[in-house]
Amino acid sequence: MENLHYWLSGTLFIFAAIVLAMALYSYRRKEISAAKAFSFLCLATFFYFFGNAMELVSTELSEMLFWNLVQSVNTFIPFFWLLLALQYCGKEKAFPPFYIKLFFSLALLLLLGRFTNPLHHLFYHHVYMEYNGYFHVFKAHNGPLFYLKFIYTTIAFLLSNHLFYQLSRESKGSVKKLGQLMFVASLLPYLAYAMFIYVGAPYGIDLVPLALVISYFFFMLAIFKFQFFDLIPLAYHKVFESIKDAVIVLDKEQKILDYNPAAKAFFQKLDKKAIGQNLDELFQDQVELVKAVDKGVDSTITFQVKDRPHYYDLKLSALTNQKGEEIGRIIVLSDITKQVAVTEEFKWMASHDELTGIYNRRVFFEYGNHELERLKRNKLPLSLIMFDIDHFKRVNDTYGHQAGDVVLQKVAEVVKKNIRACDLFARFGGEEFVILLADVTPQKTMAVAEKLRVALEAMEVTTEGVLIKVTSSFGVSGVEAVGQESLDVLIAQADQALYEAKARGRNRVESAMMISCRKN
Ligand code: GH3
Ligand code: MG
Ligand code: MG
Repeated sequence: MENLHYWLSGTLFIFAAIVLAMALYSYRRKEISAAKAFSFLCLATFFYFFGNAMELVSTELSEMLFWNLVQSVNTFIPFFWLLLALQYCGKEKAFPPFYIKLFFSLALLLLLGRFTNPLHHLFYHHVYMEYNGYFHVFKAHNGPLFYLKFIYTTIAFLLSNHLFYQLSRESKGSVKKLGQLMFVASLLPYLAYAMFIYVGAPYGIDLVPLALVISYFFFMLAIFKFQFFDLIPLAYHKVFESIKDAVIVLDKEQKILDYNPAAKAFFQKLDKKAIGQNLDELFQDQVELVKAVDKGVDSTITFQVKDRPHYYDLKLSALTNQKGEEIGRIIVLSDITKQVAVTEEFKWMASHDELTGIYNRRVFFEYGNHELERLKRNKLPLSLIMFDIDHFKRVNDTYGHQAGDVVLQKVAEVVKKNIRACDLFARFGGEEFVILLADVTPQKTMAVAEKLRVALEAMEVTTEGVLIKVTSSFGVSGVEAVGQESLDVLIAQADQALYEAKARGRNRVESAMMISCRKN
């Protein structure tokens, strides 16, 4: 046992050579995720092992002190350890760069503190050699920086443990196994380190180096061997987790196999208990969703979110085995509420008059012809009212164009209130409007027009403190039973009647029928 320190030193030299080889190997493959961090981790560890080995065979305190200083590069072990964990778990981007810089700066400061110890003695004071019963060891009375380093190391190691634990918990299949492997590997040195600090070293042997070498072998396996093969599942896992669309995976019997965080955020009921449950049962209240999945066709479905409809594009894709048999299905739900809203707005703009909010001329013809066909089939009556504001130019000239706009809006509003919801009311152009009344005889329509005339005459518009009043002239046309008449002819007749109303002094209703009677 008296040569124990030589054995220990020899072992540490071997360990130092191993980690140096690991550092070189992984640096050459630095394009692999976490390989570079691992390479630097090994390099920092090399100094630690090599200095430790040299310290063990040193006979003078000054020599020991020098090799202890070389070892102190191990301040960077916790930093690269944490960086490795962040990169391996794909969490580097989620961790604010500020904290990474802070961790690095702390490691650098601690190292500087160690190197400049003779100036401040904050790391340690009073160094001496002590015989531990087997060999001479370097001893020092620790200062505050030593304890700061201990806290720093503990935090970095615990954070890494946590990251690997999370990876093993949150992932499935081979990624889960890799997470478990990394988690166990990340625990070993911490346990050895904690034992060294709290219990001391058995036979003077510090077990941290051994634990580190074992962990590094595991890390190597996880980073270079398995991760390489599992890169694709790992990539899929990351896409699955980060995608904004809700994704639910079903088996052949429509049982839920898996879901991503976006799906969980949308359907609160998707939790661990949901796995294995039938889609129909779990989503009993989502009739549209269940129906669409049952039918197996892509569709747009609506969900009420906070009492407002949200639109989702539902896409189904089959999961097949190598024989091409369907073994499951993937549901992808993408929120298209915004697109739907934009489309609706475009549709509205294409069919409505922007100023008054009523139908425009194009839609009037489209819907009007459609109505005409329907009424023709059933030989039902149809009437038209065309009206135009009297001396509207004067309104513009007297009160301004903007006041004129307000009058137009108000006219549309008043008319809308005085007709049926099913009457087709449109702005025909300028200050001229048209109303198509389906299933109403021209005779009854005369009364409607008269009611509108009175209502508009009584209308009061106040803008900027000024009261504006207008009158309007009306022309009515129509048939008792739609036959071969076209909409264009009926419009021309109503227009003619309107012209007559203007000619006969305005603010009155004229009908095409009366005009033809007078002519005869
Ligand atoms: P009448 O119909 O009684 O014969 O006389 P009028 O002055 O109303 O005749 P006319 O059809 O010649 O004039 C219509 C005016 O309506 C001309 C135009 O500047 C105005 N006008 C058309 N569209 C708008 C609009 O959107 N806003 C405003 N403020 N004015 C409009
Ligand atoms: Mg006019
Ligand atoms: Mg006009």
